[in-house]
Amino acid sequence: MSAEPQIELVGIDKHYGSFHALKNINLTIPKGQFVALVGPSGCGKSTLLRSLAGLETITGGTMKIGGDVMNGVPPRKRDVAMVFQSYALYPHMTVEQNLTYSLRLKRVSKDEMKRATEEVAKTIGLSHLLHRYPRELSGGQRQRVAMGRAIIRNPKAFLFDEPLSNLDAALRVHMRKEIRALHDRLGATSVYVTHDQIEAMTMADHVVVMRDGVIEQQGSPLELYDTPATRFVAGFIGSPAMNFVDGTTSADGTSVTLDLPASRTIQLGRQVEPGRRVTVGLRPEHLSITEDENSPLIVDVAVVESTGSLTYITAAGDAGLTIVLTGRSDLRAGDRIALAIEPGRVHLFDADSGRAI
Ligand code: ATP
Repeated sequence: MSAEPQIELVGIDKHYGSFHALKNINLTIPKGQFVALVGPSGCGKSTLLRSLAGLETITGGTMKIGGDVMNGVPPRKRDVAMVFQSYALYPHMTVEQNLTYSLRLKRVSKDEMKRATEEVAKTIGLSHLLHRYPRELSGGQRQRVAMGRAIIRNPKAFLFDEPLSNLDAALRVHMRKEIRALHDRLGATSVYVTHDQIEAMTMADHVVVMRDGVIEQQGSPLELYDTPATRFVAGFIGSPAMNFVDGTTSADGTSVTLDLPASRTIQLGRQVEPGRRVTVGLRPEHLSITEDENSPLIVDVAVVESTGSLTYITAAGDAGLTIVLTGRSDLRAGDRIALAIEPGRVHLFDADSGRAI
């Protein structure tokens, strides 16, 4: 992968009237990278993507694509291709006509068009369906046509706006691999908006977590999982979500007394500021059941759910801790269990600011 930036966003701001939708966004995307923008509804991820496409006008900052400043450049001159959730196919055109639409506008020669269509149809695996209309295709096939229409333009970047939201769960899992494989094969640069953190984690090289118009944290998927900078990122990345329990650090700063009934003290394996109000973060997959009666966490089982390969246990009580066990379990609602935590897996956040400690 080359380090040459394909997309550079410096100090991007976007106001809708008095509403500040994007606040000082700084993001550099090297050529060939697959970047996911994630965050809860309303965080500004679509606004950022649409600004890249030129469909929204930014109110501050500099936006470069392929080294050229794009501020004020109309969408069709940006050399980017957007793939929408709704596919945005022309219903009265065949697959072939949908694929070649942009080439016809560019007055590309018939031979060149034929060659490009065949190549792209092969790439997306739809060579046998070129004469069908969108209504005669499955959801996954329509999504592939939408991809093909973007690919045929050979753009500087692909911009995806929740492209898999309309597909069922199994097809979504399949298509995310397909899109990532296409990205790799084409050596493309992709920006992918999703509210699904699993999609972001599995597809992207670099994940950008947004919240209220700012970038809360960016990094590789595992960086975000292992070292979330804030409680918000910690709760957003990882499934099932991280457990949070409030507490106070001990006088020597090496442990935390949790605000839970019947709970004891959790050892940190490191030293932090004593007497500080904190939120402890425990990933469900880092908790296990122990016979150790000095366990820091004794809880009553409320719900047991099994997927066959994994068992999800939800504990009773305000904290409602979730535990994920590999394999099956004989536990039942009402059982009392002691939990062990993998050493070095305790996350700590400042109780007020939410910043990692
Ligand atoms: P979702 O996942 O729900 O699509 P999002 O993170 O993509 O959310 P955006 O669509 O980027 O969010 O919207 C960001 C914020 O900007 C929201 O609070 C939204 O209400 C606001 N917003 C978006 N478009 C406009 C507009 N045209 N006028 C005013 N406010 C807008």
